[in-house]
Amino acid sequence: MKDSYDILVVGGGPGGAVAARKAAEAGLSVLLVEKRSAVGVPVRSGESIGKDELLEFIDADQRFISAEINSVSLIEPDGSVSVSTKGIEYILDRKVFDRELIWRAAEAGAEIQVHARASSPIMEGEKVCGAVIEQHGKTYDVRAKIVIAADGVESKFAKWAGIDTTIPQDGIMSCVQYVVNDIDIDERTKQFYISPEDAPGGYIWIFPKGKRCANIGVGIPGTDGYKARSYLDSFIEKKFPNGKITELSAGGVPVCGPLKETAADGLLVVGDAARLSDSVTRRGIYNAMFTGRLAAEVAILAVESGNSSKEFLMAYDKAWREEKISLIPNENTKHLE
Ligand SMILES: Cc1cc2nc3c(=O)[nH]c(=O)nc-3n(C[C@H](O)[C@H](O)[C@H](O)COP(=O)(O)OP(=O)(O)OC[C@H]3O[C@@H](n4cnc5c(N)ncnc54)[C@H](O)[C@@H]3O)c2cc1C
Repeated sequence: MKDSYDILVVGGGPGGAVAARKAAEAGLSVLLVEKRSAVGVPVRSGESIGKDELLEFIDADQRFISAEINSVSLIEPDGSVSVSTKGIEYILDRKVFDRELIWRAAEAGAEIQVHARASSPIMEGEKVCGAVIEQHGKTYDVRAKIVIAADGVESKFAKWAGIDTTIPQDGIMSCVQYVVNDIDIDERTKQFYISPEDAPGGYIWIFPKGKRCANIGVGIPGTDGYKARSYLDSFIEKKFPNGKITELSAGGVPVCGPLKETAADGLLVVGDAARLSDSVTRRGIYNAMFTGRLAAEVAILAVESGNSSKEFLMAYDKAWREEKISLIPNENTKHLE
């Protein structure tokens, strides 16, 4: 690890990896730090992404595509089913996909450090000038012209740097998901159950990952989050009594809308850290990659022009708000507007 870089990316998810790759491709010196010892694990995602969205960033590769989906069923509380067949979607294998994105960033020239946690920003007045990185019991001061915070839904970096990132308890969906094997499913159909009984205030999803395997999860409002797993257990018991649960993951999806500002002096915030996951479609992977790329594009201009002021970097904030990024406000976001 060097003392200084053009760009420091905090977090090795899809947002951070795409940002690091883009900046490195432009010839900038880039360090990406990831606090875990490997990216992509544990998987906390239904792993669904539109084919066209994926292709915007990387060629489709069977190594990280578990299933190809051509229809989506919505099962209403009265049992009625509506089917939509708009476009192809993929269910990814994020253990491989996230790693592949990091490998691409490394091949483009970015330095990757795993088991390396950004523990606080280095500030000069209001300006972010890098971060303190903890790795293997040692502490490093790493300076950077721009820091890209891509540290996910539990992001602390933007808050440490002075951006208000508080999520109200009713501004997050609590999600629990199992990988369930040996079940009868239509391997090309994604299913959503809207059911006050099975998932009050939320829904259940079944995303096939192959012939007899699916991600099956529940998302309910964070205020009742502690009940999520018992709702999922009841649903599995009812629909797939002989299914074998082979993985468990849990996580939060912000539904409170994006941060009011996603740039500060020397800092850009992307993906889930900026709360850019879509509250309805869960389009978080695409939004993270989209904003990661956009943040890198603005950071490249900032480095080239020697201007990393908030005023300059707000071009990123303006651009994603005007772009095709999908963020559907819902009941939970209204009080924040
Ligand atoms: C149950 C569930 C189901 C979902 N299903 C879908 C779906 O089907 N489709 C979809 O598009 N989205 C889905 N999402 C959302 C999607 O997973 C996220 O939107 C996406 O991963 C965001 O990418 P990101 O790069 O912003 O953050 P992340 O993927 O969360 O990556 C952030 C990274 O930063 C690292 N990090 C955090 N703090 C630090 C630090 N201080 N120093 C260094 N590293 C740090 C973390 O370890 C992590 O690797 C789902 C989410 C959940 C919880």
